Amino acid sequence: MGNTAEVMEPKRKDPGYRPVAERLNDYEAVERQLHDNDVMIQSSRCMACGTPFCHAYGCPLSNVIPEFNDCARRGQWREGLEILLSTNNFPEFTGRVCPAPCEAACVDGIHDDPVTIRQIELFLIGKAFLNGDIGPAPPKRRSDKKVAVIGSGPAGLAVADTLNKAGYSVTVYESARYPGGILRYGIPDFKLEKWVVERRVSLMRKEGVIFETGVIVGEDLSYRFLKQRFDAICMACGAGEARDLKIPGRQLQGVHFAMDYLIQQNRRNSGEIISPAEKIHAAGKKVLVIGGGDTGSDCVGTALRQGAKEVWQFEILPEPPVERPPTTPWPVWPQILRTTHAHKEGGKRRWAVMTQTFLGKKDVVSGVECVEVDWTREKDGRLKGPVEKPGTGFKQDVDLVILAMGFTAPTRNRIVDNLGVHLNDRRHIQTDDLGMTSVEGIFAAGDMALGQSLVVKAIADGRRTAKGIMKFLGEKKSI
Ligand SMILES: Cc1cc2nc3c(=O)[nH]c(=O)nc-3n(C[C@H](O)[C@H](O)[C@H](O)COP(=O)(O)OP(=O)(O)OC[C@H]3O[C@@H](n4cnc5c(N)ncnc54)[C@H](O)[C@@H]3O)c2cc1C
Repeated sequence: MGNTAEVMEPKRKDPGYRPVAERLNDYEAVERQLHDNDVMIQSSRCMACGTPFCHAYGCPLSNVIPEFNDCARRGQWREGLEILLSTNNFPEFTGRVCPAPCEAACVDGIHDDPVTIRQIELFLIGKAFLNGDIGPAPPKRRSDKKVAVIGSGPAGLAVADTLNKAGYSVTVYESARYPGGILRYGIPDFKLEKWVVERRVSLMRKEGVIFETGVIVGEDLSYRFLKQRFDAICMACGAGEARDLKIPGRQLQGVHFAMDYLIQQNRRNSGEIISPAEKIHAAGKKVLVIGGGDTGSDCVGTALRQGAKEVWQFEILPEPPVERPPTTPWPVWPQILRTTHAHKEGGKRRWAVMTQTFLGKKDVVSGVECVEVDWTREKDGRLKGPVEKPGTGFKQDVDLVILAMGFTAPTRNRIVDNLGVHLNDRRHIQTDDLGMTSVEGIFAAGDMALGQSLVVKAIADGRRTAKGIMKFLGEKKSI
């Protein structure tokens, strides 16, 4: 293991970002990456913790972090990679977009900065691709069992990859033109360039996974069709039902859901033509993003690149503290103020603001009426509110409103409706320990079952569900 000394030297070093003035002119990745020497130094900051909270508590994939850090410290890249791949199918995704709960749980982080685990992970997988250590590795033997996976986001990809590597024949059905789910269509290129997704999908194809795109399962293909051809089905269709803001003026033109907006820019970046009728664009506009989370921040970065005149982001919750509050002590994921690279590019944020009315001129949104709100805390730390602050109402001119307030339910799917697959009390698909739904042989993974989540959690759930499917099929069952 690395540094066991009480005083940790050297200090954490992050690779940083491209200059704002440069990156606002393109959609390329904004974050830089560490080089060999830095990775060796940074991984040496990892201490031989008796209990590695990063691995055991922080990482949803249970990545074996101290061990791959130790390999990285010695420059043993291939050995580190093997350890990384033993728990994570796609480190090139998590290495770029994971909020790194492992770092929030790093013991170094109690008194100093945590180890830069995400960057070390990204380096190991990047180095492997560069050195040709990763290439198609189809299974040596295949079983006669076939599995259909519906949806090709990180959960569906993880199910497919895990099953394919174990020798099952897997077909992934995807309604969109290209595979990848939110990796491909939601997350902007400036966080995750799409060649990264395409490289992985291409590798999986070469290893034997079949991708059928442009197919809406439940409409273009029926459950009967799938049942006749497959021994098990896994639904990984995401949680695409966006939370709406049903206030007066919601019907006005110029009020859109974040995903409709972000998808278009990702499609444009891939060379697709967006028809004028469907075009949502911020150029020259006063943009308001409602919702203070990551999706909202992605919209801010996109609007700034499109040439918005001004960009605002309103959040109804109060501004979180800069330091970790007692309500989320180490190693819990801290509820702190997060200023993303998009926020550093421009735009203004306001907290504890409730939008009450969309104002319009000739059916097009032209402004909003808002009020400031107060929040109090219950004894257990939970927020109570919001309560309108008298006399704080204000109007603001806007030409484009993007609703980025989260997702409430799984993407609609006729199979769920027709088969009466049970939902849990949060309206997501109910699954058992194997990841199986209330209908035998039908599994569900990722956001569809978890609720709106993270890429790392979707991959973890996909791996868990793949193992559940193997257990089901291993007992010689079939739908
Ligand atoms: C804008 C945005 C940015 C995000 N940024 C981050 C981030 O930076 N880091 C992070 O960790 N998480 C992020 N997330 C969350 C993360 O992307 C999701 O948790 C994750 O993608 C969920 O994976 P999934 O496979 O369950 O679903 P999805 O990625 O939603 O994929 C579901 C797929 O199923 C397909 N599908 C749906 N219905 C059908 C059907 N009937 N037939 C065929 N195909 C179907 C869809 O087209 C889609 O491709 C972000 C989410 C959003 C919306």
